Amino acid sequence: MKEYSKSDQAFLRSYNIKKVRGILRNEKSCSRVDLSSMANLDKKTITNIINDMLSDGEVTVVSKSNDGVGRPKENLALNGEFVHCIGLDVGGTHLTGVIMDYTGKVLCDHSIDIAGMNSDILMQLCDLVIEELLSKSNFTLDRINKIGIAFPGYIDSKTGEAKLTENIKGWQRLPLAELFHKKYNVEIVVDDCSRLMALSELRYGAGRRGSNFIVFDLGLGIGCGIVINGKVFYGAMGMSGEVGHTIVKVDGPHCTCGRNGCIESIASGWALTDQALELLHQKESPLLYEATNKNTKTPTVKEIGLAAKLGDEKCLQLLKNAGKYIGIGIVNSISIINPSKVIVGGRLIQDNDIMFQEIVRTVKREALPEMIRDIKIEASQLGELATAMGAATLCLENYFEDE
Ligand SMILES: [Zn+2]
Repeated sequence: MKEYSKSDQAFLRSYNIKKVRGILRNEKSCSRVDLSSMANLDKKTITNIINDMLSDGEVTVVSKSNDGVGRPKENLALNGEFVHCIGLDVGGTHLTGVIMDYTGKVLCDHSIDIAGMNSDILMQLCDLVIEELLSKSNFTLDRINKIGIAFPGYIDSKTGEAKLTENIKGWQRLPLAELFHKKYNVEIVVDDCSRLMALSELRYGAGRRGSNFIVFDLGLGIGCGIVINGKVFYGAMGMSGEVGHTIVKVDGPHCTCGRNGCIESIASGWALTDQALELLHQKESPLLYEATNKNTKTPTVKEIGLAAKLGDEKCLQLLKNAGKYIGIGIVNSISIINPSKVIVGGRLIQDNDIMFQEIVRTVKREALPEMIRDIKIEASQLGELATAMGAATLCLENYFEDE
């Protein structure tokens, strides 16, 4: 019989503990007997693991049930107090933060609008959001185990460096993890905002228990997070999900990437507001003029949506056109990945039913019928917190998943 080395045993134990944590995360609470059958581990192993988790404060007994036979069964759950993380979503138009506990519960959130602000003060604005979160939760920084940061563009998640960020000027080639670590002296993890949106959907949103799905992240820019076989897909160089820069209209509008006709150049937040500003300059959209309070500053997507709902034909067309091209992007992704679900999230789609309906219509019309027969296309239920939650979730990943 093969002798197992200590390192084999340590690996097996770590693997089993992560399995138990994963079950408790998904099931919320269960007994030792349930854990034993779900984890396919014998009762003695479960008892040992749970005893250690109880003494470390990682697990608590939440209730006892008595089925009349033997001792009452203790129902166990992860203890939220065991770990607290801050998730920070640094977008081109917003800064959103959450404090999340070990169970994935959001304890508090705070968001500020930074559209038009100079990126020189971005670090101070991050400080402000973190201070607000600590104040709302009555925490001091020493109760925070990790900070996760979601950033747009090309992010090297291994080094924590923001390599290329078109939508936040001045924050190129910045060692984000190092900067934040110097400031807060806690472990910092960094990743791309769309992949983190997909991670929060996978753990706590519409993608729970899902294996193969895509999350379209519609905001100032457009990206997507791809989940394959229950894991977020990174690609060879960690640059997966740049769907916003797939070309859908040859010789189309100029894009921030330097090329023409990307989805982002037609349907992103920045493209829409540029197009709407042009409508204002041409005096072609009286209701948008009213919605922007009669000034000719760049309209927000919310103002475009309001004008469209008031009956402004031009704004309605802008949103439908954007929905159509995003829908084409989704159709192309479906053909490549063959997902079971497409989740549409991000600030652009919040309260934007006109665009969402056009996306769904386009996908149904343009996709290969066989490929969409069983696909669900749904709006994210996590709303505007999805990406910040993803950043906090990333902080928890090493408790549940192998690196
Ligand atoms: Zn582009």
